Order: sequence, then structure tokens, then C-alpha cells
Amino acid sequence: MLAANYRGPYRVRAQQKIMPCIEHPRDAVVRVTRSCICGSDLHLYHGMVPDTRVGTTFGHEFCGVVEEVGSDVEKLKVGDHVIVPFNIACGQCHFCKQGLFGNCHEANPEATAAGGIFGYSHTTGGFDGGQAQYARVPYADVGPTLIPDWMHPDDAVMMTDVVPTGYQAAEMGGIQKGDTVVVFGAGPVGIMAARCAWLFGAGRVIVIDHVHYRLDFARHYCPAEVYDFRDIEDMAVFIKKETDSLGADVCIDAVGGDAAGNALHTLFGTKLKLEAGSAIALHWAINSVKKGGIVSVVGVYGPTGNMVPMGNVLNKGITIRANQASVKRLLPRLIEHVREGRIDPKALITHRVPLEDISDAYHIFSAKLDGCIKPVLYP
Ligand code: NAD
Ligand code: ZN
Repeated sequence: MLAANYRGPYRVRAQQKIMPCIEHPRDAVVRVTRSCICGSDLHLYHGMVPDTRVGTTFGHEFCGVVEEVGSDVEKLKVGDHVIVPFNIACGQCHFCKQGLFGNCHEANPEATAAGGIFGYSHTTGGFDGGQAQYARVPYADVGPTLIPDWMHPDDAVMMTDVVPTGYQAAEMGGIQKGDTVVVFGAGPVGIMAARCAWLFGAGRVIVIDHVHYRLDFARHYCPAEVYDFRDIEDMAVFIKKETDSLGADVCIDAVGGDAAGNALHTLFGTKLKLEAGSAIALHWAINSVKKGGIVSVVGVYGPTGNMVPMGNVLNKGITIRANQASVKRLLPRLIEHVREGRIDPKALITHRVPLEDISDAYHIFSAKLDGCIKPVLYP
């Protein structure tokens, strides 16, 4: 079959690979119909995630048709069309029982890392992903969810990660009616977080980035007030000015730590040469939120991204909440939001690309070229 093949930083190719098969009675094999590239894949692509092995197939955002099921699978049958959550979760461990499907202990017993994730290095279990014609799906009765008849497949693939992650970002922010919410990052995740902030009752939504076509999209889609951070001398001073000197009620970090995203920027008015994995958006979030406010972090940080300004967190009495999204827990209510037209996920898809052209798709998405917001591969 044709599948993504990681050859080292900035090199992802489509190549022939061996078909996946049932390795465990709880597995299914899914024929992939759509597979997105995510900002999280860019951390892999930029060589920022430890233990990303050459030869790996990336791809944690895919939907498709069940091709084969293991002998213990009860809820799925061959031919079912399914949304496959990016989390690989056993459904039975201490964490899964609490709905923390992003922290499953059985799929990835490594205590300091997330649970299992498709195509996301050996730090999240070493599973191959779905930027391929076929993928093996462990614990097939737990994650995969039937695509409702009425749902467009382009919406379905966005339900595997972007929609739940944006929604969970807003949910973790504990947004109260009338709150001012500042979202750092106008990528697919930040745009979706800003959209969902309204569902929780936000009174005002501000989105910060520097990529103008993304800010323009956010202005209309979310909708949001948008600012280019290069026009802002001091982020905390600016947000204070915008909020009667109080600071934002909620700040959302939808950027994460990454060489390409963060290395160029200015911290506290000082031009700094930042190490890869440093955390500008997180600093801005902590410094811009009001005393007693909440900072919600869905941007992904690797082990080196630990530069949290703890003094400010303590002195301002800030709550920081962060996690991988728990896709399965959120799907039922998000499917309702899409059905009722409160979220239009496929509107974010700007590029529809055959799997053969995966190299170009990574390049365009990484470099923020050609108006790219969300690229989807068609295997
Ligand atoms: P993306 O790369 O498309 O978008 C990130 C955006 O942040 C870009 O538009 C970039 O210009 C902007 N940016 C960079 N530095 C910034 C700064 N200091 N302030 C404001 N904006 C800045 O990525 P995406 O797909 O939107 O994902 C965003 C983040 O969310 C990534 O870190 C990704 O790994 C993470 N993510 C987390 C989860 C989860 O479950 N927690 C799921 C999906 C993605
Ligand atoms: Zn993703």
C-alpha cells in the first residue's frame, strides 16, 4: 500500500509499505478515505519530538471504512464508516474510566507522556498512523465512532482531532458568560478554540497570530477581533489596555513549543534568540490573563518546553489546565453541534491533496504558504 514514510526532519515521502494486519483480537484494519496533516505533525516534521524513527508512518487524524476486525471486536463490522479518534485508548484503565482517553495507561505506560497516539513517535507508543491507504486500529471497540449518515466525510475527518481539541481548549478555560477570551495561534486548533469559546458564552474573543490570511479567516469564521503580534510591543500591556486594566479572563495557548513557530519572536520587549521548544505563547498567555484567571494549554510541548514563568503563575493565582484532547468523550456533543450548524469543521479545509503529493502538502502547511489552513490527504 501507499503510505507516508518519515525520512528525517523536513522529509516525508509517500512510498510503498507492507499492509497492516490484525495483530491483536481487539484490532481493526481501516481503509483510510481521508487523513489530515496537523500542527502536531509539524513538531515531528521539524524533528522536535524525541524518538521519531525513520520509516514511521505519521497521521493521527483519519477516517475511513472498516476493512477487517479482530475476533474480540463486537461493536464494529466490515464496511462501517468510522471517525477514528487520534487517541489510542484501552477504555478500561484508571484514566480511561475517568474519560481521560488522551492519557490511557495501557496504550502507553510511559508515565511522563500522553497516552497512545497514532503515528506520533515512540514516545506515544510507536503506533503507525493513518497517512496511508490502510491503518491498524488497536482497541477498535473503544475509539472508532460511526459517521452519521448525514455527516460529510470532510467534517468527519475534522472530528478526529481539530474540533475536539479546539472545544476542549475552550472547556478547560472554564469560560463564564461574558468573558474575554484571548486565543494565541490562528492555526486550525486556535481557530476552532475561538469558535467554541462562543459556545461557552464568551463575550469577546481575540485571536493573536502573525499569518495574515489566517487572521483574516479567524476574523470572519470565529468570529474574532484579530491582531498581528508583530504590531504589539508588549503583549501583557496590550491585553490589559483592551480589558479595563484587568487582563483577559481566559487565555488559550494553541501554539505550543516549536522551533519554526517560536524561535523568531520577542519576549518581554527583548529580542531573544530562543532555543527550540521554548514557550513564547505560553508566556504571553500567563502574563496577559487576569489575576485568578485560567490559562488553557492545548499547544503541544516536548520535554524541553518547560520554561513556565512560575513566579507569575503563583503571584497572580493563575490556574493552568493542559491536556491532549479526549476525543471519544467529546464526540457525542460535538456531533450535535455540527448537526445543528454551530460548528462548520470542513470550512477550515483549504487543500485537498492526493497521498502521492504528501511532501508538498507538508511543505505548504509548515511554511504557511498558499493560504493553507488545513490540508487533507486522499489516500
Ligand atoms: P499550526 O502550526 O497550523 O498553527 C499554529 C499557529 O500559531 C500558526 O498560525 C503560527 O503562525 C502561530 N504562532 C506561532 N507562534 C505564535 C505566537 N507566539 N503567538 C501566536 N501565534 C503564534 O498548528 P495547529 O494545527 O493549529 O496546532 C496548534 C497547536 O496545537 C500545535 O502545538 C499542535 O501540536 C497542538 N495540538 C494539540 C492537540 C491536543 O490534543 N492538545 C491536538 C492537536 C494539535
Ligand atoms: Zn492532530
